[in-house]
Amino acid sequence: MTNSSIHKLSNEELQVTIDEIATIVSESDYVVGMTGAGMSVESGIPPFRGVDGLWTKYGAPKMDGYSDFKKDPTGWWNRRTNEKIDSHINELRHALTNAEPHVGHYALVELEKQGNIQSLVTQNIDALDEKAGLQNLIEIHGNRTKLRCIECGDRVSLGDFVPLYAPDPCKKCGGIVKFDTVMFGEPIPDDVMTAARSEINKADCVLSIGTSATVRPASGLLWIAESLGATIIEINPTETKLTPICEVSLRSTAGEALPLLFKTLSN
Ligand SMILES: [Zn+2]
Repeated sequence: MTNSSIHKLSNEELQVTIDEIATIVSESDYVVGMTGAGMSVESGIPPFRGVDGLWTKYGAPKMDGYSDFKKDPTGWWNRRTNEKIDSHINELRHALTNAEPHVGHYALVELEKQGNIQSLVTQNIDALDEKAGLQNLIEIHGNRTKLRCIECGDRVSLGDFVPLYAPDPCKKCGGIVKFDTVMFGEPIPDDVMTAARSEINKADCVLSIGTSATVRPASGLLWIAESLGATIIEINPTETKLTPICEVSLRSTAGEALPLLFKTLSN
């Protein structure tokens, strides 16, 4: 099956594969969820990559965003406030601001409460997993509703407030503060990378949901998990680079599959 010929599963076919996934999950000791852009798309947030991705249509942002920021943080904040913003960026910001968690997010919360998954590593920056109520959550690319000190990693919540100029230095260490969202060229913050690696080391099953598994280093965690002996399960509408190493690949969306998985595991 290729990306261009998505076969819609019948309810029976869907349930057969959900049963398989439920069996593996219930027989595993430590299940880590790993989510990507597909989760956000179902909340109305346009993707960056792929055929309809914003970057595909309008071009990717500068690859050295982080070095630009570090050279002149005050100038960066001023430019952000004063620049003429492309309409697609405005659209994206509007979508992010108005997005709400969907049934897939809430099913993950229930799976966590029920002890079926132990943690979630997300590549999404939309803060919807947090909003839905995930507890053991690692936001590997940051959280757009927070600021982070680039020295000590301390994070503060923005609330509804978006700074119009450079925020004050970090209260804990005096370091420069930026949006928590990881920029191009910015390393994944040590604390989240360490936490994600630790989860992967503990996992005997990783449930990969709505990710094309192409963004490094986050996607690399999936191959590390496999090399450490974890069973990899994939829920994604199309085939991905990850598919060959998956024990089970379900061609479905998070919104369709996760509530069904929760229901199946609750019986
Ligand atoms: Zn600090």
